[in-house]
Amino acid sequence: MAENQGVSPETWLARALGRHDEATHGVVPGIHPATTFLREGDLSYPGLVYARPDNPTFTAAEQLLSQLEGAQESILFGSGMAAATAVFQTLRPGDHVVGPTVMYWALRRWLKGYCEQFGIALTLVDMADTDAIAAAVVPGKTQVVWVETPANPTWSITDLSAAADIAHKAGAVLAVDNTVPTPLLTRPIEHGADIVMHAATKYLNGHSDVVMGTLSCARADHPAWQAMKAVRRDIGGIPGPFEAWLLLRGMRTLALRVERACGTAMKVANHFHGHARVAEVLYPGLPSHPGHAVAARQMTGGFGGMLSIRVAGGGPASVEAAARLRLWTRATSLGGVESLVEHRASVEGPDSPCPPDLLRLSCGIESADDLIADLEQALAGV
Ligand code: PLP
Repeated sequence: MAENQGVSPETWLARALGRHDEATHGVVPGIHPATTFLREGDLSYPGLVYARPDNPTFTAAEQLLSQLEGAQESILFGSGMAAATAVFQTLRPGDHVVGPTVMYWALRRWLKGYCEQFGIALTLVDMADTDAIAAAVVPGKTQVVWVETPANPTWSITDLSAAADIAHKAGAVLAVDNTVPTPLLTRPIEHGADIVMHAATKYLNGHSDVVMGTLSCARADHPAWQAMKAVRRDIGGIPGPFEAWLLLRGMRTLALRVERACGTAMKVANHFHGHARVAEVLYPGLPSHPGHAVAARQMTGGFGGMLSIRVAGGGPASVEAAARLRLWTRATSLGGVESLVEHRASVEGPDSPCPPDLLRLSCGIESADDLIADLEQALAGV
């Protein structure tokens, strides 16, 4: 890895850490479909054993992600949910989890049901409020403090260093869903996090054509990390080799895509801040956002490609505005090259903290001016 010392993440990404196909000397690493590996006559293994715990196609993407996150180890999962749920599947009845009220809704829904089913106590708090996190942890019982920052869909910001301090004093690990900022904008381990999770389906892959998740750890010998690895090994929520190969391919352009998405999100936010047809723009890059000061300290190189607008006419007007858009694609998900729009309240249902007038915007790599003009014409019609 000496060639990767002293160069920037953009260079690691573009070069995929300089990996190539060992067998052919092709400049692109190969795909290894084998599910099982040769054993010697004495039954020992000279290398890998079986593709559920280990697959050589995973290794290149895992090592690149570890380098980006400043992690000792990373592992791929078959989806973001498979990665996130592996963290909680290490817990026992009687344990306690502190999570955010504002977070990826499907994980919040799963977590509530899982904790209830297995006798795990769960406290959901406003993670933008450090005092609320401190009040929620139970020393000796809280095992995981789960954070998403910026958090879906209001982009509320958690102070990671403060959350890490609180978690560690209580004897818990801090696990961070880093999907939205990507390691280019936030490296949670530098702020004290123990575990970093990604829905690699989003920015890391970046082309809306792979479902995948990842976990990374600050310390590979941490018992919690060993337990999470055992969940993947034993439950087997792994991706296929082709998807893992596509992930590495997607990651090579991550820096360009994230830079472009951040620039566009900032332009869209500035354009619609104070706009007559927009009640509020939620974007941590705006000084009006409650998390701006922490985000400015904690995020480097931009505030992310995600923002939300609250349409002045209320819920029905926001749905109508989304229907009138021509360039923003109406679809769930985020972090792809194409810009997406979604009316989150109708997706998340009645127990969601998401306001009914909110449209979530995922900025892609199209022209920012075109995207702004499209939003203008859609809002003008409602
Ligand atoms: N975390 C965040 C922030 C997400 O947006 C998502 C998916 O939308 C997930 C986790 C779950 O990822 P996946 O859909 O790959 O299971």
